[in-house]
Amino acid sequence: MSFDYDLFVIGGGSGGVRAARLAAETGARVGLAEEYRMGGTCVIRGCVPKKLMVFASGFSGAMDDARAYGWDVTAGGFDWPRFRAKLEAELSRLEGIYRSNLQKAGVELFDARATLADPHTVRLADGTEKTAKHILVATGGRPFVPEFPGAEHVITSNEIFKLDALPGKILIVGGGYIACEFACILNGLGVEVTQYYRGAQILRGFDEEARGHIAGAMCDNGIDLRLGTNVQRIEKTEAGLWVTSTDGHDAVYDAVLYATGRVPNTEGLGLAELGVPLNGNGAVLVDDYSQTTIPSIYAVGDVTDRINLTPVAIREGAAFVETVFKGNPTKPDHELVPGAVFTQPEFGTVGLSEEAAREQGPIEVYAASFRPMQTGFAGREDRVLMKLVVCAETRRVLGCHIVADGAGEMIQLAGIAIKMGATKEDFDRTVAVHPTMAEELVTMKAPVRTG
Ligand code: NDP
Repeated sequence: MSFDYDLFVIGGGSGGVRAARLAAETGARVGLAEEYRMGGTCVIRGCVPKKLMVFASGFSGAMDDARAYGWDVTAGGFDWPRFRAKLEAELSRLEGIYRSNLQKAGVELFDARATLADPHTVRLADGTEKTAKHILVATGGRPFVPEFPGAEHVITSNEIFKLDALPGKILIVGGGYIACEFACILNGLGVEVTQYYRGAQILRGFDEEARGHIAGAMCDNGIDLRLGTNVQRIEKTEAGLWVTSTDGHDAVYDAVLYATGRVPNTEGLGLAELGVPLNGNGAVLVDDYSQTTIPSIYAVGDVTDRINLTPVAIREGAAFVETVFKGNPTKPDHELVPGAVFTQPEFGTVGLSEEAAREQGPIEVYAASFRPMQTGFAGREDRVLMKLVVCAETRRVLGCHIVADGAGEMIQLAGIAIKMGATKEDFDRTVAVHPTMAEELVTMKAPVRTG
């Protein structure tokens, strides 16, 4: 049977774009449909604009530090419309690069929503049908907002980059990556930030000591973090959004940002109708090679809800191409994935938390918390945390957790050593780079806890 394409990709985000480009480079005929903007969540309304906002917000503290170092500087106000226009131009530039790289590789692009009509056919929004030997679903996810009275008044991370003006006062709901990152960003930009998290401590699932350290720093930086608190209802009043909360702390805000998780984009795609199993959350169920139970249909990235990070989606897309187009069956590697949460201070983490490691057997914990040179000199009380979790038997470093400016950069490198199976003694025999914060990782002599 002949098909229009060897591969049709639905979704122009990190995973879909990588798979389309690599497949086309093998000589395959590839089509890709994207309903919104090329680049997906990461480029258009996620990692990239977020990180630029992290940089923008860091200047308020940097200005204070500069003064402490002897510079004569005064911060004027932050011009959000000016920044937003520049941000939008940058995103358009990146979108253009994505588009042209795909076209250069020979991928045919369709600026349209696509759904599945049968195991080898996609239907575009205008009703056109395209057949393909393989179909890759890479439709990502979208913000989830729970149902409650007044939910229609809230914004999500989709809207935050497009605001006409920054709110004077915002409530952020959630305790995960997005809630904590935006609490810090907006606080740095001069917005009065209150954050509600329903549980006992933010960043559930990460190392407890690191979570406490970050929460403490966020409060010290002026964020009104309220744990064990949730929203009951929101009413729109002339003064703003009136929020009634579970802890009796009712207040009016200019905006309420919900960052209460994301759900896979599978609604209306036609997957369920074809019998492709989805989990309770709507994620596409796939095997180790990203293949669904229908042999011609594969899925990668957030739509499969495995590890929802851009670099993981990219690896999944590349492994799919190795498997299907290069005759080299390859499973994406989901072990020891390093990551960073771009709070202020930043959090870099790889491997097991102290709590998770202890469940597997005896461990030694090495940790140091100290005032770093740069901010200490400027008179700030900020402390960094450097932590290694070590297996008492094999001596392997099972986890590394860093809370410090630049922790995302540091953890990328520590991640290589840990992925290679480095032991505590390997760290110890590495000579320190002095004076740095990271040298602490190779100079911690005695465990602070064992067992
Ligand atoms: P997360 O899953 O990280 O966090 C969701 C938060 O919302 C949790 O604190 C959760 O609480 C809370 N929550 C869920 N439902 C409700 C509810 N009904 N009422 C109140 N609170 C609720 O999701 P995010 O949206 O922050 O981020 C989505 C994913 O995107 C991340 O998991 C990550 O994979 C990725 N991401 C990665 C980034 C990075 O690499 N730096 C940055 C941003 C996103 P509880 O803990 O109690 O369940």
